[in-house]
Amino acid sequence: MTTTEAGHHTTGNFKLSFEFFPPKNPDMDVQLWETVEELSRWNPDFVSVTYGAGGTTKAPTLQAVERMISVAQLPTASHLTCVDASKQEVHDVVRELREAGVKHFVALRGDPSTGIGTDYKPHPEGYENAAALVRGLREIADFEISVSAYPEKHPQSESLAVDIDMLKRKADNGATRALTQFFFDNDIFERYMERVTRAGITIPVVPGIMPIQNLTQLKRFAGRCGTSIPAFLDERFAGADEDPVARARIAADVAAEQIADLQKRGVNEFHLYTMNRSALVNAVLENVGYRPARKSAA
Ligand code: FAD
Repeated sequence: MTTTEAGHHTTGNFKLSFEFFPPKNPDMDVQLWETVEELSRWNPDFVSVTYGAGGTTKAPTLQAVERMISVAQLPTASHLTCVDASKQEVHDVVRELREAGVKHFVALRGDPSTGIGTDYKPHPEGYENAAALVRGLREIADFEISVSAYPEKHPQSESLAVDIDMLKRKADNGATRALTQFFFDNDIFERYMERVTRAGITIPVVPGIMPIQNLTQLKRFAGRCGTSIPAFLDERFAGADEDPVARARIAADVAAEQIADLQKRGVNEFHLYTMNRSALVNAVLENVGYRPARKSAA
């Protein structure tokens, strides 16, 4: 059964994935694994672990991925970027991750180690962009390969058309799914999908849903990612600045309503940015009325 109103039972072909980032210190480590345990009850189709710029989090990503697979027993995708790495170095990381049991990569160009928005220069012996990385991964093994998509355009991209062309190249090179940058305006996503379909891209494009832990902080981050903040969000969160309980309730309602509205538009697959916190994600999925079917771990 799939229904479209938040609060009703939602099962059937509803697909779910969770994104985590590798911990940077012991406290964050504890928080991550508590979150993973808490969220496991939703039986996600897969979870993913991000990969930091400049190779800075190569080891933490590897450690987190290993534990997701061997201890948490979750089907786990490792993000992988081309930043500051030769093809050989990328292949070495792929081999290590493969030995840890990874069969699914989220293949990205990545941002320069000098920061988002600064000019990206490919490593002289590396992959020039995500499309080239996808091709390289495809040559190594029959991996599942997810890639990024930007319904509001990548901030450095000259146009949405160029962006969609890049998505097409990634799909043509063997990507099996795209995960979108987070967005809050479903009309933008729907218009984007019309263009994606017209471009002949047939891989699933899964909306990335960001439950709003803190609207003020999110606005700063969204600006760097090219995500627009619709006026209705300010209205919904108005007056809740000093009230964390009210803020959490509003945030859960907003994300659940976004998912329910996307379901009405025929979407049944969702990638949730967890920010390594479980409470809000739990509240969102409870509001959506999601009832996970039993799934076996990969
Ligand atoms: P590509 O797919 O290669 O390019 C994306 C678009 O950007 C292209 O369509 C192109 O039009 C445009 N573009 C790219 N470079 C230029 C340029 N120099 N000039 C003009 N236009 C350009 N980052 C991490 O570091 N680690 C992660 O784990 C990570 N996970 C992510 C997961 C998702 C689902 C998403 C959406 C993003 C993630 N990112 C991550 C961020 C991503 O690395 C950045 O957005 C990066 O800038 C682009 O990488 P990409 O793979 O999307 O690039």
